[in-house]
Amino acid sequence: MLDNITWFGHDTFRITGGCVVYTDPYKIKRADTADIILITHSHFDHCSPDDVAKVIGDKTVIVATKDCAAKLRGNIKIAAPGDFLTAAGVEIEAVPAYNTNKSFHPKSNRWVGYIFTLDGKRYYLAGDTDYIVEMRSIRDIYAALLPVSGTYVMTADEAARAALDIAPQFAVPMHYGDIVGTKKDAERFADEIKRLSASGPKIETVILPCH
Ligand code: ZN
Ligand code: ZN
Repeated sequence: MLDNITWFGHDTFRITGGCVVYTDPYKIKRADTADIILITHSHFDHCSPDDVAKVIGDKTVIVATKDCAAKLRGNIKIAAPGDFLTAAGVEIEAVPAYNTNKSFHPKSNRWVGYIFTLDGKRYYLAGDTDYIVEMRSIRDIYAALLPVSGTYVMTADEAARAALDIAPQFAVPMHYGDIVGTKKDAERFADEIKRLSASGPKIETVILPCH
């Protein structure tokens, strides 16, 4: 189940399906080459030039917000909320990601999450965000990668409610186990989804092992 997704901790995933996508590479342990690197915003634990360098190749396309582009080298496509673009043949939509009850990720920074399609399946990487109204119009998602740690992003309970709105086939907790949050947050997220979806959409939560 979801064996095309490898989690390296925090918001770093390697997702395959016709090509290799890395998200917010941070503390990458092994060498590999990405076709696409998606970066959600310029905080050091999401936009890490040293880690990007570990997975970049001659043909890699980096999709990143404007403030990240200034820190990185390579073939960079700049993304802002609402943008649709194509990289390495993959359709990518940049969607809003921001805080509503704290100030770490102001909406005015125009930081993002991404929706992208691999092998006909739509993936949603939420980025550092609270549970925001724009999530209600996100549909037809195969796997939603959602932050659950609280503090800088939504809590496990808020993330579970977001998952119910989005109704993906699979919900995957992220943004815990490193800087903030523990596996308990991921487990609480899973429990809440189970409870809330008892009479609603069928969503399977997958807590991926950290590689
Ligand atoms: Zn952040
Ligand atoms: Zn973060």
